[in-house]
Amino acid sequence: MQNIKVFDDCVHELSRLPGVGRKTAVRLALHILKIKQDQAYKLSEAIKKLKDNIKFCKECGAISENEVCPVCSDENRKKDVICIVEEAKDVFFIENTGRYFGLYHVLGGKISPLDGIGPGDLSFDKLTKRVHNLNVKEVIIATNPDADGETTASYIGKILQNVPDLKITKLASGIPIGSHLEYADEITVLRALENRVGLI
Ligand SMILES: [Zn+2]
Repeated sequence: MQNIKVFDDCVHELSRLPGVGRKTAVRLALHILKIKQDQAYKLSEAIKKLKDNIKFCKECGAISENEVCPVCSDENRKKDVICIVEEAKDVFFIENTGRYFGLYHVLGGKISPLDGIGPGDLSFDKLTKRVHNLNVKEVIIATNPDADGETTASYIGKILQNVPDLKITKLASGIPIGSHLEYADEITVLRALENRVGLI
Protein backbone atom coordinates (compact mmCIF):
# COMPACT_ATOMS: atom_id res chain seq x y z
CA MET A 1 0.00 0.00 0.00
CA GLN A 2 1.29 3.45 -0.80
CA ASN A 3 2.27 5.55 2.17
CA ILE A 4 -0.53 7.78 3.36
CA LYS A 5 0.68 9.58 6.45
CA VAL A 6 -2.68 10.24 8.10
CA PHE A 7 -3.67 6.60 7.67
CA ASP A 8 -0.30 5.38 8.94
CA ASP A 9 -0.48 7.66 11.96
CA CYS A 10 -3.84 6.18 12.92
CA VAL A 11 -2.55 2.62 12.43
CA HIS A 12 0.48 3.48 14.56
CA GLU A 13 -1.67 4.79 17.43
CA LEU A 14 -4.05 1.81 17.26
CA SER A 15 -1.18 -0.68 17.24
CA ARG A 16 0.01 0.76 20.55
CA LEU A 17 -3.15 -0.58 22.24
CA PRO A 18 -2.68 -3.83 24.19
CA GLY A 19 -3.31 -6.93 22.13
CA VAL A 20 -3.47 -5.03 18.85
CA GLY A 21 -0.81 -5.97 16.33
CA ARG A 22 -0.13 -4.05 13.11
CA LYS A 23 -2.44 -6.25 11.03
CA THR A 24 -5.37 -5.70 13.39
CA ALA A 25 -4.56 -1.98 13.55
CA VAL A 26 -4.78 -1.74 9.74
CA ARG A 27 -8.11 -3.59 9.81
CA LEU A 28 -9.46 -1.27 12.51
CA ALA A 29 -8.30 1.86 10.68
CA LEU A 30 -9.98 0.64 7.48
CA HIS A 31 -13.13 -0.12 9.46
CA ILE A 32 -13.13 3.39 10.93
CA LEU A 33 -12.79 4.78 7.40
CA LYS A 34 -15.84 2.84 6.28
CA ILE A 35 -18.22 3.70 9.13
CA LYS A 36 -20.40 6.80 9.19
CA GLN A 37 -18.75 10.10 10.13
CA ASP A 38 -20.81 10.57 13.30
CA GLN A 39 -20.06 7.04 14.52
CA ALA A 40 -16.31 7.63 14.12
CA TYR A 41 -16.58 11.00 15.88
CA LYS A 42 -18.52 9.34 18.72
CA LEU A 43 -15.59 6.98 19.21
CA SER A 44 -13.01 9.76 19.33
CA GLU A 45 -15.27 11.85 21.58
CA ALA A 46 -15.72 8.89 23.95
CA ILE A 47 -11.93 8.50 24.22
CA LYS A 48 -11.53 12.23 24.91
CA LYS A 49 -14.29 12.23 27.56
CA LEU A 50 -12.77 9.15 29.18
CA LYS A 51 -9.38 10.85 29.47
CA ASP A 52 -10.87 14.16 30.63
CA ASN A 53 -13.32 12.82 33.20
CA ILE A 54 -12.19 9.48 34.55
CA LYS A 55 -9.23 8.94 36.81
CA PHE A 56 -7.84 6.33 39.14
CA CYS A 57 -8.94 6.66 42.78
CA LYS A 58 -6.02 8.03 44.79
CA GLU A 59 -6.81 5.65 47.64
CA CYS A 60 -7.45 2.28 46.01
CA GLY A 61 -6.62 2.74 42.32
CA ALA A 62 -10.13 1.88 41.05
CA ILE A 63 -11.69 3.82 38.18
CA SER A 64 -13.45 6.94 39.42
CA GLU A 65 -15.00 10.23 38.31
CA ASN A 66 -13.62 11.89 41.43
CA GLU A 67 -10.27 11.89 43.23
CA VAL A 68 -11.70 9.30 45.61
CA CYS A 69 -13.98 6.56 44.26
CA PRO A 70 -17.55 5.88 45.49
CA VAL A 71 -16.42 2.75 47.40
CA CYS A 72 -13.65 4.53 49.33
CA SER A 73 -15.91 7.49 50.12
CA ASP A 74 -18.86 5.33 51.21
CA GLU A 75 -19.24 5.61 54.99
CA ASN A 76 -21.02 2.27 55.15
CA ARG A 77 -18.22 0.20 53.64
CA LYS A 78 -16.09 -1.80 56.05
CA LYS A 79 -12.72 -0.04 56.21
CA ASP A 80 -10.91 -2.96 57.82
CA VAL A 81 -11.33 -5.43 54.95
CA ILE A 82 -9.44 -4.99 51.69
CA CYS A 83 -9.90 -7.10 48.58
CA ILE A 84 -6.74 -7.04 46.47
CA VAL A 85 -7.18 -7.25 42.71
CA GLU A 86 -4.83 -7.02 39.75
CA GLU A 87 -6.57 -4.47 37.55
CA ALA A 88 -9.14 -1.69 38.03
CA LYS A 89 -11.66 -3.63 35.92
CA ASP A 90 -11.57 -6.53 38.41
CA VAL A 91 -13.32 -4.30 40.98
CA PHE A 92 -16.48 -4.47 38.85
CA PHE A 93 -16.56 -8.28 38.93
CA ILE A 94 -16.45 -8.35 42.72
CA GLU A 95 -18.88 -5.41 43.02
CA ASN A 96 -21.32 -7.20 40.70
CA THR A 97 -21.82 -9.92 43.30
CA GLY A 98 -23.46 -7.24 45.47
CA ARG A 99 -22.22 -9.10 48.55
CA TYR A 100 -18.83 -7.56 49.24
CA PHE A 101 -18.83 -4.58 51.59
CA GLY A 102 -15.15 -3.89 52.18
CA LEU A 103 -12.61 -1.78 50.31
CA TYR A 104 -10.39 -2.61 47.33
CA HIS A 105 -6.77 -2.31 46.43
CA VAL A 106 -5.75 -2.34 42.77
CA LEU A 107 -2.20 -3.57 42.23
CA GLY A 108 -1.95 -2.36 38.63
CA GLY A 109 -0.97 -5.79 37.29
CA LYS A 110 0.76 -8.90 38.57
CA ILE A 111 4.32 -10.03 39.09
CA SER A 112 5.39 -11.42 35.74
CA PRO A 113 9.11 -12.14 35.29
CA LEU A 114 8.59 -12.99 31.61
CA ASP A 115 7.07 -9.57 30.97
CA GLY A 116 9.69 -7.87 33.12
CA ILE A 117 7.17 -6.85 35.79
CA GLY A 118 8.59 -7.07 39.30
CA PRO A 119 7.20 -6.09 42.71
CA GLY A 120 8.60 -2.56 42.30
CA ASP A 121 6.23 -1.96 39.37
CA LEU A 122 3.10 -2.64 41.40
CA SER A 123 1.47 -0.80 44.33
CA PHE A 124 2.66 -3.08 47.15
CA ASP A 125 4.14 -0.22 49.21
CA LYS A 126 0.84 1.59 49.13
CA LEU A 127 -0.94 -1.64 50.09
CA THR A 128 1.26 -2.12 53.16
CA LYS A 129 0.66 1.50 54.18
CA ARG A 130 -3.10 1.18 53.79
CA VAL A 131 -3.16 -2.07 55.79
CA HIS A 132 -1.41 -0.27 58.64
CA ASN A 133 -3.20 3.07 58.44
CA LEU A 134 -6.69 1.58 58.20
CA ASN A 135 -5.91 -1.03 60.84
CA VAL A 136 -7.08 -3.71 58.44
CA LYS A 137 -8.27 -7.02 59.89
CA GLU A 138 -8.54 -9.03 56.69
CA VAL A 139 -7.08 -8.87 53.19
CA ILE A 140 -8.75 -11.02 50.54
CA ILE A 141 -6.42 -11.82 47.68
CA ALA A 142 -8.35 -11.94 44.41
CA THR A 143 -5.52 -12.22 41.92
CA ASN A 144 -6.21 -14.52 38.98
CA PRO A 145 -5.51 -18.24 39.41
CA ASP A 146 -2.75 -18.42 36.80
CA ALA A 147 0.98 -18.82 37.48
CA ASP A 148 1.71 -15.07 37.73
CA GLY A 149 -1.41 -14.48 39.81
CA GLU A 150 -0.31 -17.22 42.24
CA THR A 151 3.21 -15.75 42.45
CA THR A 152 1.66 -12.38 43.23
CA ALA A 153 -0.61 -13.92 45.89
CA SER A 154 2.38 -15.59 47.61
CA TYR A 155 4.28 -12.32 47.51
CA ILE A 156 1.40 -10.50 49.20
CA GLY A 157 1.32 -13.25 51.84
CA LYS A 158 5.02 -12.76 52.44
CA ILE A 159 4.97 -8.97 52.82
CA LEU A 160 1.93 -8.99 55.11
CA GLN A 161 2.58 -12.14 57.15
CA ASN A 162 4.01 -10.27 60.13
CA VAL A 163 1.20 -7.75 60.47
CA PRO A 164 -0.38 -8.52 63.85
CA ASP A 165 -3.98 -9.79 63.87
CA LEU A 166 -4.30 -9.69 60.10
CA LYS A 167 -6.19 -12.49 58.43
CA ILE A 168 -4.91 -13.20 54.91
CA THR A 169 -7.39 -15.05 52.71
CA LYS A 170 -7.63 -15.92 49.06
CA LEU A 171 -10.62 -16.49 46.81
CA ALA A 172 -11.63 -20.15 46.76
CA SER A 173 -10.67 -21.98 43.64
CA GLY A 174 -14.20 -21.91 42.20
CA ILE A 175 -12.79 -20.01 39.26
CA PRO A 176 -11.27 -22.47 36.80
CA ILE A 177 -7.46 -22.47 36.71
CA GLY A 178 -6.06 -20.17 34.08
CA SER A 179 -9.29 -18.26 33.57
CA HIS A 180 -9.81 -14.74 34.80
CA LEU A 181 -12.32 -13.04 37.04
CA GLU A 182 -13.84 -11.38 34.01
CA TYR A 183 -14.83 -14.73 32.47
CA ALA A 184 -16.47 -16.08 35.61
CA ASP A 185 -20.17 -15.48 36.18
CA GLU A 186 -21.39 -13.61 39.26
CA ILE A 187 -22.42 -16.77 41.12
CA THR A 188 -18.96 -18.29 40.64
CA VAL A 189 -17.24 -15.12 41.85
CA LEU A 190 -19.62 -14.92 44.81
CA ARG A 191 -18.98 -18.56 45.72
CA ALA A 192 -15.21 -18.00 45.45
CA LEU A 193 -15.57 -14.98 47.73
CA GLU A 194 -17.77 -16.66 50.32
CA ASN A 195 -15.64 -19.83 50.44
CA ARG A 196 -12.36 -17.96 50.62
CA VAL A 197 -9.56 -19.80 52.35
CA GLY A 198 -6.72 -18.76 54.62
CA LEU A 199 -3.47 -18.24 52.75
CA ILE A 200 -1.19 -19.13 55.64
ZN1 LIG B 1 -11.10 4.00 45.91
